Amino acid sequence: KAKELGVNKFKVFNKAMHEKAMQNLLIETEIRQGLPEDEFIPYFQPIYCLQTKRLAGFEALVRWNHPERGFITPEHIIPIAEETGLIVKLDRLMLLKACREFSKWVSTYPSVRDMFLTVNLSPCQLSKPDLADAILDVLNETNFPSDMLKLEITESAIMERNAASTFNLKRIGEMGIKLAVDDFGTGYSSLSQLQRFPASTVKIDRSFISRMAEDHESLEIVRAVNALGHSLSMDVIAEGVETRQQLILLKEIGCDCVQGFYFDKPQPAEVAVQLVKMRSEGFCPPGLTSI
Ligand code: C2E
Ligand code: MG
Ligand code: MG
Ligand code: MG
Repeated sequence: KAKELGVNKFKVFNKAMHEKAMQNLLIETEIRQGLPEDEFIPYFQPIYCLQTKRLAGFEALVRWNHPERGFITPEHIIPIAEETGLIVKLDRLMLLKACREFSKWVSTYPSVRDMFLTVNLSPCQLSKPDLADAILDVLNETNFPSDMLKLEITESAIMERNAASTFNLKRIGEMGIKLAVDDFGTGYSSLSQLQRFPASTVKIDRSFISRMAEDHESLEIVRAVNALGHSLSMDVIAEGVETRQQLILLKEIGCDCVQGFYFDKPQPAEVAVQLVKMRSEGFCPPGLTSI
């Protein structure tokens, strides 16, 4: 009896694994087909500056407009794209589309020339020999000012440096493009690794921000990361700000920029451009006026 149960359990496990593998294969095929079909589009999440109280920039985040299943978020796309190597094409497509949009906004509203666009770069890109040339092509094709571009690389990726990545980072820096360390606090990088990584921005991971108002240790971590970033001459962005209380604490701590649902969720280009227009007219979001 017990043995029978064990066998059945094994069968069920096997079946679930098989189904998962089949599903991943299906998604992989669909990503491959969807790439040239315009199914992947960037959404734009606003980032606000606490000093100027203005819109400072946007982070481009991929959304998959699937022909049958509707909108699909990155958690269902990125892991499979990374496993299969499709991430290289996907990231470059996002960079191209995001730069193309933003370029239009800057030419329509030249006063927003001091804003920035951040685009996520999968860790594996850093060691692709053609990365810098591919970025250069995008900048030329979209007429995008390189100093407005920031590439986000997760903290865990800054540890794996090799000759190719060092070369890429050097060329990217020479082009005037900036780097941001994403999800800081979740990786295991050392202080010297952070110091050696040529980033101008550090983004504090959402998990610390979401706990900082209730949990003293999280608050102290946010304070410490902010101080660390500033001591390395980096700007600090807090990710995942959802409440006014968090915002007030971040202002008191001296954090530079905030991003989160308290202000806006990632928005389609049509909505983002309206925010750009408002910013060009001097608009200051209500959540920031009184702090
Ligand atoms: P990330 O780069 O850390 O981006 C921030 C994520 O946090 C986004 O999720 C955003 O929607 C979410 N977020 C922002 N503010 C809040 C908030 O206040 N509350 C909550 N609960 N969430 C908030 P999203 O768009 O689902 O993206 C998830 C991750 O997928 C990104 O994390 C990034 O690592 C990856 N990703 C997204 N787009 C791309 C891409 O084009 N290329 C690559 N390589 N990775 C991407
Ligand atoms: Mg990011
Ligand atoms: Mg992040
Ligand atoms: Mg994250």
